Amino acid sequence: MSTLRGKTALVTGSTSGIGLAMAVALAKQGANIMMNGFGEKDAAIATVKACGVEVDYHGADMSKPAEIEAMIAATEQRFGAIDILVNNAGIQHVANVEDFPEERWDAVIAINLSSAFHTTRFALPGMKRRNWGRIINIASVHGLVASMQKAAYVAAKHGIIGLTKVVALETARTGVTCNAICPGWVLTPLVQKQVDARAERDGVSNDAAKLALVSEKQPSGEFVAPEQLAALAVFLCGDAASEVRGAAWNMDGGWTAQ
Ligand code: NAD
Repeated sequence: MSTLRGKTALVTGSTSGIGLAMAVALAKQGANIMMNGFGEKDAAIATVKACGVEVDYHGADMSKPAEIEAMIAATEQRFGAIDILVNNAGIQHVANVEDFPEERWDAVIAINLSSAFHTTRFALPGMKRRNWGRIINIASVHGLVASMQKAAYVAAKHGIIGLTKVVALETARTGVTCNAICPGWVLTPLVQKQVDARAERDGVSNDAAKLALVSEKQPSGEFVAPEQLAALAVFLCGDAASEVRGAAWNMDGGWTAQ
């Protein structure tokens, strides 16, 4: 299968977790990949390269609009186009609203919401010119419902679903689509930090903390796998999904059905 051969995908925050799984799945369909993100980038790049496509990396800090603009330009120059944009980079901070540090609020809004506005406004002209594009925003169940102590994250994720709908409407008469994916709990480094905090707070093992965390919200009692979310992204990139526009598609073990 190489349904995306000749296309280029930019996946923000693709050095770990969901973003890395997205990059691998799109590469397996033949898309060339521009990766981005911090941390252990060399192993992540090697993993995507092993899929046999062209891979490059840009270290833009997604909280900095000028760096985002430079990354979009560098990707278009390196690969000739950005056909698929996956806005995935994200961070979390957990605190009651009255204790929420102003600097953490600003960082969560910048990285989880404003970055998608910037990547979209810079990448969209090229997509419209070619009359083909796929913009996939990794939102969250927290774009649909709230949880305590996640004011900035919930605000950003509700915001990105709004942005998704506006972009979907503005591109509705073109070959560009824009949709959001809303995962429930996925066991990635972002969530492992919350598992660690819970294990320490409750004096329980890592496994017990994981089970308690997922069961509290997710009726299935199971984590969603990054590869399952990536398969949905591949579907959204295909012809069968050309009229899926402005969706906020949950994959959450039943979380938001309650
Ligand atoms: P993760 O921590 O494994 O990945 C986050 C990625 O974003 C990493 O590559 C990191 O380096 C990158 N990143 C962070 N700050 C950045 C910055 N300033 N500039 C560039 N890159 C930056 O986490 P994940 O769980 O894979 O999260 C990916 C996305 O999925 C996030 O938007 C998150 O909100 C969303 N999400 C995760 C879950 C979950 O349960 N894990 C659930 C719903 C939604």
